[in-house]
Amino acid sequence: MPESTLILRADSPDAPEIKTVAEILKKGGTAAIPTETVYGLAANALSAEAAAKIFAAKGRPADNPLIVHIADLSQLADIVSEIPESAKKLAENFWPGPLTMILPKQPHIPEIVTAGLNTVAVRMPSHPIARALIAQAAIPLAAPSANRSGRPSPTSWRHCVEDLDGRVDAILCADDCDIGLESTVITLATAVPKVLRPGGITVEQLRSVLGEVEVDSAVLKELAPGAVAASPGMKYKHYAPRASVIIVDADADSYIDFVNTRTEAGAFALCFEEDVPRIQLPCVTCGTADDEATYAHALFTALRELDEKGAAVAYARKPSASGVGLAVYNRLLRAAGFHVIKP
Ligand code: AMP
Ligand code: MG
Repeated sequence: MPESTLILRADSPDAPEIKTVAEILKKGGTAAIPTETVYGLAANALSAEAAAKIFAAKGRPADNPLIVHIADLSQLADIVSEIPESAKKLAENFWPGPLTMILPKQPHIPEIVTAGLNTVAVRMPSHPIARALIAQAAIPLAAPSANRSGRPSPTSWRHCVEDLDGRVDAILCADDCDIGLESTVITLATAVPKVLRPGGITVEQLRSVLGEVEVDSAVLKELAPGAVAASPGMKYKHYAPRASVIIVDADADSYIDFVNTRTEAGAFALCFEEDVPRIQLPCVTCGTADDEATYAHALFTALRELDEKGAAVAYARKPSASGVGLAVYNRLLRAAGFHVIKP
């Protein structure tokens, strides 16, 4: 672990602080950095020693591989051994942006980065500061979310400080993340492309470019005991606040009637803004019912807020599972340990 953490702020891609962090990463150090999805915990993806520091800082299980971030398409051929037509089409349509592609790896990508798999996950972020940083470091950056393992992903620099101060060499602070959920992960290593994790790029968008796209059954279902996860990260109880989260599958009126019958100590409603005036429990809000993107943007902050307010149990309104809502529901199910009730 480093002796101390340098906390810097960058307000534009020209900020000199970006160079400072790029130098730290070039020398094999670690840094929390802003991206449009969530903050990432970055290190040199071509160095096993640097990547090992990510696992140590997060307390991440060694069998959960990392996403490699690039700033330019020319970096891709050095990371993956094959660039199929499907990958070219996806890159053209969705890069830079919140889409991660799984492809066969080049032999020199360290095993620790891919958790021993023969495939590697690659993404080109759109955040101007992330792009400037990768370009200045001139190396691909392995970067999972910058939270301690098991905690909600960080969507603000404050979350990075909470989880990683004293555990990484630097934290590069910028504004809150636009999207607020991690990238969509699609594997192109199967006969039919398959979404392993839903995110900011929707299944509908992927189908409009590729035609047939499958969705892994683990997206909305708990993995059977002993089953092998296509995306190792999906098998963990994830994104969890200290409170027990219970998803309530009901329309607005039934949800409100139900939560108003709850009287246990420490009970909270995780609800939409428009629900608040009718709810008797203390509330933490997650956007508005008519716009899934607002739920995505607010979810991880709301999960952390439940902890700050000392919630023991949170009754969450079920999001619509279409569009970006699928990604929201996927994360909420894991935060809830798949506990869904119909009142
Ligand atoms: P995070 O960076 O914390 O958002 O997590 C990265 C996600 O990508 C995890 O769910 C990993 O399991 C998944 N992932 C990374 N590399 C691979 C790979 N080679 N094959 C399948 N899933 C991967
Ligand atoms: Mg993560």
